[in-house]
Amino acid sequence: MREQAGEEPGATVIDQPYVYRHRELAEPDWRRLPGWAEVTAADWESAQWQRAHCVKNIRQLRHVMGDGLDERFYADLERDQAERATMSMLVPPQMINTMAPETTPADPGFTEAFYADPVRRYMIPVFSDRHPEWPSHPRASRDSLHEAEMWPVEGLTHRYPTKVLAELLPTCPQYCGHCTRMDLVGNPTITIDKYRFELSRDDRLAAMLDYLRTHPGVRDVVVSGGDVANLPWPRLESFVAGLLAVDSVRDIRLATKALMGLPQHWLTDEVRSGMARLAATARQRDVSIAIHTHVNSAQSVTPLVAQAAKAMLETGIRDVRNQGVLLRGTNDTPAQLLDLCFALLDDAKIMPYYFYMCDMIPGSEHWRLSLAQAQQLQHDIMGYLPGFGTPRVVCDVPYVGKRWVHQVARYDRELGISYWTKNYRTGVELDDAFALEREYEYYDPIDTLPESGQEYWREDARTPVAAAG
Ligand code: SF4
Repeated sequence: MREQAGEEPGATVIDQPYVYRHRELAEPDWRRLPGWAEVTAADWESAQWQRAHCVKNIRQLRHVMGDGLDERFYADLERDQAERATMSMLVPPQMINTMAPETTPADPGFTEAFYADPVRRYMIPVFSDRHPEWPSHPRASRDSLHEAEMWPVEGLTHRYPTKVLAELLPTCPQYCGHCTRMDLVGNPTITIDKYRFELSRDDRLAAMLDYLRTHPGVRDVVVSGGDVANLPWPRLESFVAGLLAVDSVRDIRLATKALMGLPQHWLTDEVRSGMARLAATARQRDVSIAIHTHVNSAQSVTPLVAQAAKAMLETGIRDVRNQGVLLRGTNDTPAQLLDLCFALLDDAKIMPYYFYMCDMIPGSEHWRLSLAQAQQLQHDIMGYLPGFGTPRVVCDVPYVGKRWVHQVARYDRELGISYWTKNYRTGVELDDAFALEREYEYYDPIDTLPESGQEYWREDARTPVAAAG
């Protein structure tokens, strides 16, 4: 409560649940990290330097942090990599530098600040982050969205009637611990082998274009991976030019977390001029090209990220939008989400678009929120942002697709099972007369359930699965 200017003395107003303040974006000083103490601004702003200095293992993390991180952190990380990790480690300097940005490794509280950091929580997961009893939900699975089942050609997911997802490549400049495509993306880890494309990249991309030419009902193509920033620019440009030559394609979205993780890539002359060529062709053809990025935390939005987003807008593309993922410990409060959305909108001109609930892949239980928590977050962020910049919180329901969290048909809070319906057939149900009458399930994290619900799942885990056939 506070006194309001112009009010009667003693009159008070109650603060709003969230108070907006414009925050200047800031690039944390990378020279506070011992391994990069001598790195010049020119090197820092070079995409090549960033790629060459990504942190890929514990030895490299030690080199960057000097003596600043306790040994217990490295032991925790090593154990996670040996027993839990579904993604190998790959973190660009740009992202490491945004972790614990207010502290230096010489500060006594650095290890605790690093442990607690929202970006560290999903980019460098450690064993003690995970839930001790339920690291994975019993219904979690690789390729939890069944994208590969919906490939008419390898790497092209046809799930919705008018849209496809083109997975051009299985790598990214950064690997996120919670990656939905852990089945396909990145290097194998000790516990997870990865699917390998059977066709060569050129054959796959050619087959995707052939499919689109013969399926005029598809108007919207999400060009993804992995991350398109890892495709050599001439190859990406020729693929997008190929899409622009397909009459029925009206929307093209390029998916790249690297706009935040490696903004230096999107600031290179080659990429900027190439994107300007694509944008010019798109305008002539009345096609919208947009970049979709993946930012989960306000501290990731730095001046370089804003510069990269604005450079892309200046090429003449339609928009730059953000699809974040709701993650416990990273962005699970209304203030964290609103801080992020305002950081994106105010100075980076990135449109908040979606926040996904984290998908049900192995090892994701400690990151996931319950549907009820996601609904509450959607409720709590309404009304502060412009309507056009208010992100929808969505659940990507297996065999259904994205649904706003309030669209649930039924919800058993005790067992944490939500039931969803749909209004179209995915690529695997084109001859299924009952697909639209069925309900499809999604599951809350077990530790968020009442004790009776948790006991149900313990019993479920003890029950042997009946042999198929
Ligand atoms: S950038 Fe996207 S595709 Fe790549 S690891 Fe992260 S979530 Fe997965």
